Amino acid sequence: MKLSLKPLVLIASLLLTTSAFAEEAKPAEFRLPQVDWSDKTICRLLKSTQRREYHQVAVQRGLACAGSVKAIISAESSREDYEGHTVLVASDVSKSAADKAKKWLSVAEEAWFSKDDPAWDLYFPIILTIVGTNTNAGEELEQKFCEIVKAEYPDGYYRSKCANPNQPGCTGACFIADYAREGGASITGWRTIEGYHLMILAVNPSPEYKEMIFHEAFHIYQISHITTEDHREFERKMGKVSDVHNNTVPWWSEGTANYFSASLYSKQPNVKSGYFKEVMGEHLEYYGDGAAPIVGQYLRSKKKLYDIDYSSRNGLGYRVGTWFVAYLVHNESEQKIFDFYASLDELGFDESFTTHFGKPYRDYVDDFDVFFKQPISKLLRIIP
Ligand SMILES: [Zn+2]
Repeated sequence: MKLSLKPLVLIASLLLTTSAFAEEAKPAEFRLPQVDWSDKTICRLLKSTQRREYHQVAVQRGLACAGSVKAIISAESSREDYEGHTVLVASDVSKSAADKAKKWLSVAEEAWFSKDDPAWDLYFPIILTIVGTNTNAGEELEQKFCEIVKAEYPDGYYRSKCANPNQPGCTGACFIADYAREGGASITGWRTIEGYHLMILAVNPSPEYKEMIFHEAFHIYQISHITTEDHREFERKMGKVSDVHNNTVPWWSEGTANYFSASLYSKQPNVKSGYFKEVMGEHLEYYGDGAAPIVGQYLRSKKKLYDIDYSSRNGLGYRVGTWFVAYLVHNESEQKIFDFYASLDELGFDESFTTHFGKPYRDYVDDFDVFFKQPISKLLRIIP
């Protein structure tokens, strides 16, 4: 049971919002308190939502239920700055949880953010916001974040989500607060436009949490290699443009992030040997014996990997994209992927791919499709 849940948790967290411009999850239905609502209704909603708006009314009316949530609501988030980073932590997140997130982020940065790389100047600043599960604390953190952006990144502010606080059911823009409700992690926004990378993280006790931080850090690595301010051009360089339709596709941007985060995680101290194979098997819904049903789903879809969009069943583009990257690394090495990114901004996606991997990406996917028709035992042999 535990094993079969694992990839679902990972996929769900990745689907929430992963790269720049991703759709936000819808906030829960919320109505502002009305004067004709009964005390009982106010208390019921306060207890179930823990929202500040209901708390204010309960305090004004002198209701006993106001006292029950006071401690949570009055707590404050914290800020810490260190080289290239601003870390904002919601009041319901412990210091040790925040320290762990910072540590895992730094492990990823040390692995991937090279000083010799043309993108070195663009990896930072990173604003890391960490939420727990309390919605009020998440909203308070979001307000704090927006105040900081307004004061310290005034040019970026008006193009950020902070300046567009019109989502229904939210007191603010509700993008960071959503993660307290839904969990997950993302890179939201665009360094070139807003002036910073924003990583949003909901603390999570599962082992996938560390890998999730690596995954998001890899998105920072990718985005830092694209300097255009044109949205379409940005998507092209991210590898998110399909050949046959207008929806964005995850195979490359998510496949590389998934592959490199699992690869890096598998090399950490105390990670069991065989972990990488296990995770790659799970991407295909293979749990040590029996079939790998995702392989058949992909081959039967009759779609090319680079045309499978984000909405595909079971996260097919994510899963098979991760396997494509494994195949590419097996043939070419991890370093070649970093070389691809180093010349991406200058050459563009297609030419950088052909330059570093010797053939157009479409031809490489054709080769992959032949490779992927083999039994799972043979597929797993390429995973280190
Ligand atoms: Zn992602």
